Amino acid sequence: MANPILVTIQCDACGGDASVKKLNNSPLLYLHCKTCGMDRRSGKQLQAKWQAAIDGKSGLPDAPEQAESVEGEWSPPVEDKPESNAEDKPENSGISGKSVAVGTIGVLSVLAMFFKAVRG
Ligand SMILES: [Zn+2]
Repeated sequence: MANPILVTIQCDACGGDASVKKLNNSPLLYLHCKTCGMDRRSGKQLQAKWQAAIDGKSGLPDAPEQAESVEGEWSPPVEDKPESNAEDKPENSGISGKSVAVGTIGVLSVLAMFFKAVRG
């Protein structure tokens, strides 16, 4: 007489645990609640609900939620290179640098001579 429990669901009537079972000689499922007793309604909707509970329990696929197999396909965002201002640089910067250096040396020389003169 003991039919295997296919799935345990919540009883609609009392909120307790109810066992969905199946008769050996019938394709119909039935519900057995310890509090409410046997529920042998054969309506398609209810049968489908119980069957869905069974399928949901036993048919849980271990499929990954989201396949994280995108490694190696990441590409950095393309940035727009700013317009190069290299051609706007004055070409005589080197010459002006030399002039500054020569001028500094000249000033230092003058100062050196000045200090020598003061000390002398
Ligand atoms: Zn119940």
